[in-house]
Order: sequence, then C-alpha cells, then structure tokens
Amino acid sequence: MLHYESTPVQEFHHAVLEKAGVRLLVKREDLNHPFISGNKWWKLKYNLEEARRLNKKTLLTFGGAYSNHIYAVAAAAEECNFKSIGIIRGEEVLPLNPTLRFATEHGMELHYVSREDYRKKNEADYIRHLHSAFGDFYSIPEGGTNSLALKGCSEFAETLLNLDFDYLCLASGTGGTMAGILEGFAGKREVVGISVLKGDFLTQEITNLLKTSAAEKKISSPVYGKWQVLTSYHHGGYAKVPDVLKNFIREMYQQHNLPLDPVYTGKLMWAVLEEVKKGFFKRGSTILALHTGGLQGAASYQNLYE
Ligand SMILES: *Cc1c(COP(=O)(O)O)cnc(C)c1O
Repeated sequence: MLHYESTPVQEFHHAVLEKAGVRLLVKREDLNHPFISGNKWWKLKYNLEEARRLNKKTLLTFGGAYSNHIYAVAAAAEECNFKSIGIIRGEEVLPLNPTLRFATEHGMELHYVSREDYRKKNEADYIRHLHSAFGDFYSIPEGGTNSLALKGCSEFAETLLNLDFDYLCLASGTGGTMAGILEGFAGKREVVGISVLKGDFLTQEITNLLKTSAAEKKISSPVYGKWQVLTSYHHGGYAKVPDVLKNFIREMYQQHNLPLDPVYTGKLMWAVLEEVKKGFFKRGSTILALHTGGLQGAASYQNLYE
C-alpha cells in the first residue's frame, strides 16, 4: 500500500573500531521513503491495512509538536487516501514549526489539547469524547506503538537476517520497534536498545509489549535471545540536545557522510562508539546500527550539519 525503497548498508570506519577489532555497519532504513522514514514506515504498514480493512476514512493519532510519528502519519494518510487528524500536546505556536507545517500541508487537521487532556489519550472515555467530536476514525497510539506496529517491525527484522552481523543496535522511545525486532529475530541476533528517554522503564515496557503480543498470537514460550536496554545515553532526556551532541552529529555528517537526527539516531551512534571503546562488543564481531530515520526533526535545529 505504501511506496517502499530498498535501503543500503553503509560501512562505518573509525579508529575506535579498528582498535577494538569490531566492524560497524549502518542500515540506512531512513532512506526507505522520503517522508515515512525508517521505523515509522514499518510501524504504520499493518495499521494502514487494518484501517482500510475496517473501511475507515480517517486516521487519528497523537504526538508532540516535533513528532516524527505525526509527520509520518500525515504523509501516509495522504498517500493512502485517508483523512488525518493529529491531536497535538500543548498550545498552538505560530508560525508552525517545520514538522507541523508539513503535517498541515499534507492534509492533517491539527487539534491542540492541554497536557492534562493529552495524558488521557489512552483512556476509553477520552477516545469516546474524540469520537463524538470527530466522528468515525481509526486510532493509532502515540508513537504508533501497538500490536500491528510490532508485526511490521518483526517483518522488517526478518529481512535483516540475510545480513551477516552479531549485534543490532537501535534507538528506543516507546520500545515498540525493539519489541517487534526481537520477535522477528527470534533469538538469532543479540539486540541492544539505546533509551533516548531518561529513566529505567524501557526494559519493563518492552517485556510487557512482548508478553501482550505473544498472548495475542497464542505463543506459549517465545524465544527472544539476548537483549538489553542501555539507559545512560539520553543526554539529559527526550529531545534534549546539548552542544556536545550537536558537535558529534556535525562530525558524523561531515566526516562520515552520515546524517543523524538529534533525538534518536545521534544518541544511538554516540552510544555505539562509547560502548565500543568500553569493550562491550566482542573482538571480531560485527555491529549493525539501525538508522530509524527521523531526519525531518533536524530541520527544526539551525545549522545542525554545518
Ligand atoms: C519514533 C522513533 C524511534 C523510536 O521508536 P520506538 O518504537 O518508539 O521505540 C526511533 N528512531 C526514530 C528516528 C524515530 O522516529
């Protein structure tokens, strides 16, 4: 249903890697679609099919003002001929930032709600209220994480098994992408998630997502192999971008031809190189770092690559 471009693997060279005797490849999944990039493509794939199967005309979802998910849903709705509604946390700020401008230009209707109301976004009562305000719609949770998102990410993971590598490293927000990938790998690769949020809840969150998914699929003893979430690379918290991280992103772009976003993949690459230095990865092994996209977010930062 959605356009998809097959994506390259980029070899990354760095003195730190040579010293540690490990190889680092970057799966450039950010290049899979011009607007619905990286993991968001895979998280939306089966949600779009389901919305169509249910004969829905409108997609409704939730996000912050810089959300990659809002951006992707606006583009996906347009490409697949759905109307779209974005419930945005906080007050309207004009002029619109590049993310929300893109969303409205691609047909998304934006509704701003207070932080207090936004917190109710998963409550049945609140969804009923939204239905009385907006009529019939297919609802996609914040960040796109639900069982159908896991299904898409699991399918993506299976395509990666053709590649020769030992560890997959990726940036995690809700953990939906990582949970889906763990399902798809079924223990055939080790997975390391880098939390972009401050706090220690992601391991539990991913465990819950895996449990719910296995129960829905009636799988009694699923295999996931070795996985963990590293929680010390958030750089101050979600969407916090200190200068050291900006400088790192600029260097990655200028010296390694690798464009990164400040919220997710910048923190991922930083973490991978730090863990290589610390000897986390076995000598002789290959790491596949997953570029999950999100480069639209870089447009909201001045001169990030210069
Ligand atoms: C949304 C997003 C993530 C986080 O995905 P989760 O499934 O919420 O963990 C990672 N990277 C990028 C670029 C994203 O846009």
